[in-house]
Amino acid sequence: MIIASAITEKESGSDAYSMKTTAVKNGDDYYLNGSKYYITNAPIADYFLVYAFTDVNKGSIGGLSAFLVDAKQSGVEVMGPLEKMGLRTAQMGGVQLKNVKAICRLGEEGAATAMFNEAMTWERIILSALNLGIVVRVKEQVQQFGEENNRGGKKLNEQSEFVEVVSHADVFLENAWNKIIYAAKALDENSKQSFLKASVAKLLVAEQGEKVMRQLQQSTGAYGYLSKNGIERDYRDFLAFTIYSGSNYVQNKIISSFSHS
Ligand SMILES: Cc1cc2nc3c(=O)[nH]c(=O)nc-3n(C[C@H](O)[C@H](O)[C@H](O)COP(=O)(O)OP(=O)(O)OC[C@H]3O[C@@H](n4cnc5c(N)ncnc54)[C@H](O)[C@@H]3O)c2cc1C
Repeated sequence: MIIASAITEKESGSDAYSMKTTAVKNGDDYYLNGSKYYITNAPIADYFLVYAFTDVNKGSIGGLSAFLVDAKQSGVEVMGPLEKMGLRTAQMGGVQLKNVKAICRLGEEGAATAMFNEAMTWERIILSALNLGIVVRVKEQVQQFGEENNRGGKKLNEQSEFVEVVSHADVFLENAWNKIIYAAKALDENSKQSFLKASVAKLLVAEQGEKVMRQLQQSTGAYGYLSKNGIERDYRDFLAFTIYSGSNYVQNKIISSFSHS
């Protein structure tokens, strides 16, 4: 069973709480109207987890609720798959909801912002670790390339510029791993700081990791540019992490909100 999580809309990504999707209660049922976009797994989803306003006036504090929607329900129109730069094995699409009766509400009415933040804390930590794994794989491939290739009569692995790129990657990996563990421990201890620490880990991995990935790719010259060698695919996949699960801008905003509180 595949459930796609749908919060983003065409005009509300980073500013998710300016979404237009609404849910109106009629008896015990809720009817949803709106349109979600850039949704992972939308074209193959059995169900959607849809975030919608039950009270626009209350906004994100008390006005946002979460619903389970059957993808086969009448009024549900799925768009896609949308072609994209990377992560091509994970289909992306949109979903339009026209007076769609939800299967059920998830959690209390108006409680979805807290639920979403908790889900994001988990997601940011787990996906930071996953993306760090991509950097580890590319670094090992680059080291292997450096071992097997000579320039100017010396192995690349013995050339100072090449060594520097690999050591930068090692420093990044060590720092990022520590931040991920730090955030995971905070989550394990139910600390309120886990939301902040997840953002710190996510921002570090996405922002610095992008630079490290580019340096690693560059260090192998044309080898890293060829699709058959896999590094360019890993680089394209990695770039998406600067956007999904909250862009770098969003992580900076979360971090600065803690430093001002
Ligand atoms: C691979 C991938 C998978 C995704 N999967 C899902 C999914 O499963 N479910 C889902 O709901 N969504 C999903 N998304 C959508 C994702 O959450 C949004 O793309 C993300 O929140 C950014 O929103 P946006 O694309 O509208 O960009 P915008 O929010 O418009 O941002 C564009 C740029 O402007 C910057 N920016 C934004 N606001 C400001 C501001 N006020 N001041 C200064 N700079 C700003 C951002 O940092 C960014 O660089 C996915 C996206 C990608 C790329």
